[in-house]
Amino acid sequence: MRKESTDLTPPPWLVASWGALRRAQAAGRLPHALLIAGPAGVGKRLLADLLACSLLCRCPGPDGLPCGHCQDCHLFRVGNHPDLVRLGPDPEGKSDEIKVAGIRALVESEGLTPTRGTHKVIVIDPAERMNPSAANALLKTLEEPAPGTLFCLITERAYLLPATVRSRCQRMLLRPAEEAQALGWLAGRVKGADPVLLLRLAHGAPMRALALADEPLLVRRDAAFAGFVAVGQGARDPVAEAQAWGDLSPKVSLEWLGGWVSDLLRLKADGTVAHLSNPDKREDLMRLVPHLDPEAGHRYLQRVLRARATQDNPLNLQLLHESLLIDWAVLGRKVV
Ligand SMILES: [Zn+2]
Repeated sequence: MRKESTDLTPPPWLVASWGALRRAQAAGRLPHALLIAGPAGVGKRLLADLLACSLLCRCPGPDGLPCGHCQDCHLFRVGNHPDLVRLGPDPEGKSDEIKVAGIRALVESEGLTPTRGTHKVIVIDPAERMNPSAANALLKTLEEPAPGTLFCLITERAYLLPATVRSRCQRMLLRPAEEAQALGWLAGRVKGADPVLLLRLAHGAPMRALALADEPLLVRRDAAFAGFVAVGQGARDPVAEAQAWGDLSPKVSLEWLGGWVSDLLRLKADGTVAHLSNPDKREDLMRLVPHLDPEAGHRYLQRVLRARATQDNPLNLQLLHESLLIDWAVLGRKVV
């Protein structure tokens, strides 16, 4: 069972979005379906959780925030509130789709009727993973909304949702935080890690930066980067390096690889460039720059980005890492 976030106050960059939801709720204008969209790591889930908990809480504060002490807040916190339903792909399942069964079960078993208070919240995350039947079943439910029911659809890729579903939802687009706000928020939460570096590695997304503060992952990044440099210099076998990357999720490995190659191209264009995604690796990257053919480098980056866009289900992760690292070995030693 998923434990819910215990940090139930809006971070500074979400205060305006929270305020808009809060005012809508106070005025009785909260929609039946909300589409919370935006890039990874900007706080879409946190905002949905805040809203859900504030609707379920028995005695929310004057600011609309959940009290944190009542029985409903407790049930929410331990991930066991009967009026909060989370629909996502089955983590044990072979497919990464959200299937129709979950939505049908809600509709057919009166699952849309609140059991404790006046609200029922259904969070669909990531919403774009709904297969066509699931989206269709949801659409029917949205056409005849049950009183007190709020659907929260969370997505990084709203364009993948059927237009019919999108048009039934009130859309809330979250934008990346301003750097100063994100750094202030991160500083109190990451211990021993450099918030500036973390935020840079996370492309400005604070939640992602916080996840990166997980130390073993940073150690993994250092090891993978050392391998990347060695492969580029012809000092390490790309196949052996792909094996070492073994269980790294493609979401992580391709993000890193893309970031390193982007930085190389930035440095090739201007060795004194101020903005790098990996400022801590500048010196090592500079050593690779003289051998990099910018045109081939851009083509390679496009390949990494394409692999990243379709990374949800690579047929064979080992082969993907191998083929990217073999090409990088050739590229890194190209005589320009
Ligand atoms: Zn409460």
